[in-house]
Amino acid sequence: MTDIDPEAYSDVWVFIEEHDGEVMTVSWELLAEAATLAEKTGEDLVALVIGEDVDDVAEEAIARGADRVLVADDAVFEPYRADPYGEQFRAMVEARKPSIVLIGGTHTGRDFAGRVAVPAHAGLTADCTEIDVDDEGVLQARRPAFGGNVLATIICEEHRPQMATIRPGVFESAPPEGDREGTVEYVDVVVEESDTLTEVLERSVGDTADITEADRLVAAGGGIDGDIEPVRRLADALDAELAASRKAVDEGWVEGSRQVGQTGKTVRPELYVAVGISGAVQHLEGMNDSDVVVAINNDPNAPIFDHADYGIVGDLFEVCPDLAERLDATDAAEVTR
Ligand code: FAD
Repeated sequence: MTDIDPEAYSDVWVFIEEHDGEVMTVSWELLAEAATLAEKTGEDLVALVIGEDVDDVAEEAIARGADRVLVADDAVFEPYRADPYGEQFRAMVEARKPSIVLIGGTHTGRDFAGRVAVPAHAGLTADCTEIDVDDEGVLQARRPAFGGNVLATIICEEHRPQMATIRPGVFESAPPEGDREGTVEYVDVVVEESDTLTEVLERSVGDTADITEADRLVAAGGGIDGDIEPVRRLADALDAELAASRKAVDEGWVEGSRQVGQTGKTVRPELYVAVGISGAVQHLEGMNDSDVVVAINNDPNAPIFDHADYGIVGDLFEVCPDLAERLDATDAAEVTR
């Protein structure tokens, strides 16, 4: 293992994840949070954009707080594949020596972050929910550990860069400011199509829903007792995505990618409807920052009501279809206003 001189590494980097021109919200969340870290360390906040025809993304990164943007723009990066992304990112890290690198804990981020961290002998903390930096510039990466029973702070004093993937939805993004100034630098692309080991022959669509990106969620809990239809019906009427408590996931009623909470995802939609969910602390942790919370539960003493803006005490098998019918008769878009 080589000795690392931390003084040789500087700047806070944030990976801006983009697919077909659409930026994942977590990238803007990280940029906003990383601005605080860069301010503390007195370093530049640098956005890293990899893709094809991504000039608009680079401009938006500056408007949202980046001092500099490094862009690797080439057809080889579209659609996403781990090998060209990982190799390009690794080369940029090696050449420019960032002190901190933050990547969204998405499928893509988790897929290639290790390809950068391992050859760089970097420390990589996965799925963090809090980040900070101490006076020495050491990243304090916090994440639930031991099944969510403790919050561990992980530091990496002797290796650089200090890398972390961050759970989507735990930070708030900052709105773009049109008059912000910054520099955009187009870097050398170090990978060619002939170097890549994989070829995308077909893209099939599975359950692609990302509950962290949805404006409205209707979440099913243990109260549904295996019958998801009333909840699905309400979600359709509200034009919302389906989400779930761990109970509903553990029972196999809803896919694990839709679980909200400490060991699931953190969401902050405009509207969160909790159906047959008791309101356990581990669930609340994942949805407490929702703008408007509606709870439907037949137990008037269920803790979820203490965290709801609106509560309906009743049997979900009657309330959900009834609400859906009324919503169908009105303009669902008005519901969150
Ligand atoms: P239940 O506890 O079974 O509650 C069902 C609710 O439905 C009750 O309030 C009941 O009154 C109501 N109900 C029943 N029938 C009806 C009906 N007909 N109409 C209306 N209401 C009805 N949980 C998560 O959700 N997310 C996590 O990420 C998570 N992480 C965890 C991590 C750890 C380390 C641990 C220990 C636990 C974790 N849990 C998590 C589990 C959590 O503690 C709860 O067990 C879980 O959230 C309970 O789910 P629930 O409220 O949907 O189900």
